[in-house]
Amino acid sequence: MIRLFDSARGEIRELHLRDPGQLSMYVCGPTVYDLPHLGHGRYTLIWDVARRWFTFRGLSVRYVSNITDIDDNIIERAQREGESEVEIAKTYELLWWEAMGGLGEAYPNDVPHATLYVAEMVALIELLLERDVAYATPDGIYFDVSKVADYGLLAGQALDSLRAGARVEANEHKRSPLDFALWKNAKPGEPNWPAPFGEGRPGWHTECVVMSLDLLGDDFDLHCGGFDLRFPHHENERAQAVAAGRPFARHWAHSGWVMVGDEKMSKSLGNFTSLTDLLARTDSRAYRLLVLRSHYRSPIEVTPSTIADAERALARLDALARRFDLAELAGERLEVSSDFIWPPAAQVLHDEVAAALNEDLDTPLAVARLFEALSRANALADAGDEPLARDLALAINALFGALGLALKGGADSVDGISQALVERRDEARNARNWAEADRLRDELVALGWTVEDSALGTLIRRS
Ligand SMILES: [Zn+2]
Repeated sequence: MIRLFDSARGEIRELHLRDPGQLSMYVCGPTVYDLPHLGHGRYTLIWDVARRWFTFRGLSVRYVSNITDIDDNIIERAQREGESEVEIAKTYELLWWEAMGGLGEAYPNDVPHATLYVAEMVALIELLLERDVAYATPDGIYFDVSKVADYGLLAGQALDSLRAGARVEANEHKRSPLDFALWKNAKPGEPNWPAPFGEGRPGWHTECVVMSLDLLGDDFDLHCGGFDLRFPHHENERAQAVAAGRPFARHWAHSGWVMVGDEKMSKSLGNFTSLTDLLARTDSRAYRLLVLRSHYRSPIEVTPSTIADAERALARLDALARRFDLAELAGERLEVSSDFIWPPAAQVLHDEVAAALNEDLDTPLAVARLFEALSRANALADAGDEPLARDLALAINALFGALGLALKGGADSVDGISQALVERRDEARNARNWAEADRLRDELVALGWTVEDSALGTLIRRS
């Protein structure tokens, strides 16, 4: 049973999946007009870890994360640099995936782009106009939030108190300051798309509701993002789905932000340090470990000293990998062999780690257990109990691998032919074709490998 804090209900509750055994998750992606910052790195790492853990638990996960490739910031940068909006978006999307790849994040199953969904957004806006929950103004179409009875659910506030706290904008056409733009009417020199209610471009909140429902379907399981997206972005996505009569996300999950000193990490506060900078200076696994050592709903502080601390912890893990000659796991690989039988000492560790992660993704507790086991494995090996120590070390490696953190012991590089044999052997084992699996094992042994079975499939190392 996996339990997770649900922002809509304000409590930790069991994940009730729409389709048993399958989990659909949507993570709001970036607007591509600048280098990704540390906050982007953190929230994508958290949902990468969650996705890997759900997969490790045997769920078939479909992970969708969008690219917002048209918006005010992209237009502004394009005009400032004398480039097209398409060029700006392309450039920064490439840098985004480069950084996410650098963090060892698995690529989403789908990456919808807003500009390829404009027709579907226009259709939704037409429906909302028909249902009288949207209205036209001289500068575009707005959504009337007073038409949604439980508006404020994600913010955790009633409409009246939200209204009292709302920033008063200089827009005399809006009926309420909380109303938001579904469609922005065409302005000269900006990219525009045709629509029955006038040329223009979609508002940000309309993108995600359309793309998530299109790819994951009504009533999908989990909608994730950084804490700052809870309101108004997610509130407004939800309001549109409710008004359109479409069952929306069953669970909402939000992650905490990054602090540098005492301030929230974001470009608007002027303390922007790019993720690209961080990745150039440190081992990206140290950032993953720093993220894992805090609870995903708490803020984290990223400073040279917290990074150095994570690097020291990482060095202990790599030393374990060298001592026990562990194979490198994780990376893009998400699949798990269900046949693995944990040795008794490792089973206890596995159960402790699983209990922590299944209860609101308590990664700091899981990591604490794994480091206790690391000390125990070293102590056992010092005392001469090699087999027990090795069982523990293999389990630590497999469990960190399941969280996307690869231990590096200077392991052997694997050639293409051997890698192909490993993959064929995993397929054979998954199909319970033991004779074929044994034959492939013999082939690997003939090539000079020692072959082991693990929770993540076949492991090989030089004999
Ligand atoms: Zn979104």
